Amino acid sequence: MKAAVLVEPRKMMIQEVEDPKMTDTRILVKIRNCGICTLEQRLYRGDLKIYYPLIPGHEASGEIVEVGSKVIGDFAPGMRVAMDLVTRCGQCYYCRTGSSNLCSNRFKPGQQVLGGFGEYIAVRGMQAYPLPDSMSLQEAAFTEPVACCIRSLKKLQVTLGENVLIVGAGPMGLLHLQVARAMGARVFVSDPDAKRLAVATQLGAVAGIDPSQEDLSGIIKSETEGIGVDACVVTSPAQAALSGGLAALAKAGRLNIYTSYLEEMPLPMDANVLHRNESLITGSEGRTQTDFHQAVRLIGYGMVDVKPLISKVVGYDSITEGIEAAMSPETLRVLLEQ
Ligand SMILES: [Zn+2]
Ligand SMILES: [Zn+2]
Repeated sequence: MKAAVLVEPRKMMIQEVEDPKMTDTRILVKIRNCGICTLEQRLYRGDLKIYYPLIPGHEASGEIVEVGSKVIGDFAPGMRVAMDLVTRCGQCYYCRTGSSNLCSNRFKPGQQVLGGFGEYIAVRGMQAYPLPDSMSLQEAAFTEPVACCIRSLKKLQVTLGENVLIVGAGPMGLLHLQVARAMGARVFVSDPDAKRLAVATQLGAVAGIDPSQEDLSGIIKSETEGIGVDACVVTSPAQAALSGGLAALAKAGRLNIYTSYLEEMPLPMDANVLHRNESLITGSEGRTQTDFHQAVRLIGYGMVDVKPLISKVVGYDSITEGIEAAMSPETLRVLLEQ
């Protein structure tokens, strides 16, 4: 089959590679769409290394072409699916205690990792989520990031009528905004980019705040009866994003560090504030199967609209151009389509 292969940093090549290994417990899927996420951008730049050559891509959708004879689930050729391409073993401590997003065996040598930039992929039944007719394959490529936002907001136990601040209006910020609204929250978004803030208010943010020009915590306080936000998600790796989020929290507020950092990032705060205010700070990593299932429903039922986030769709012949475009602040999400 054909695949877009990362042969070394900053070098993607379309190559003929071995077909995926089909077994009687796997489902063979023809990949149609795959998002170019931050992970792919970091791999491309060489900021993050797994191994070379590598077929990146973890936000993929496609059509089933073959179902192994021992697959138990209700799958059939022609069925459209979203795929969970970061595998979980189902056998480790974390998988068995409801936190398969923290599976100990995700990246063990021999595990299938990523692969969404290939023409085909063979997955286990538990990795394939059938799509409702209302959901396009392009929209389905957002299932994985939406599932990560669901995980993130569940971790914060966001509930009805709460004030939530999303720091950063990139693709992950805009998806968090919509999932938080679906959970009954009133959502503020902060970002220094005016265009992105405009998208955030179109998608239902009560206010888009530019923290480089405006007094973020002052505005939040005045909009929340002087209290601050009940919960905050930091989606940008800038240090100011984390400090700004912490300053906007109400007493007993919860903050999730959703973004990852390439380098060590000490918490920019006084431990006394945590003590006095009973603040809770957590992180969130990946998604469980339940989160993935709920993401299919939210997009399929129209409760999260991912279409405004599609900035560009590229084919194999312009994959490098696509990745470069994905790294530009001018785009939200770029999709590979085949
Ligand atoms: Zn992603
Ligand atoms: Zn596991």
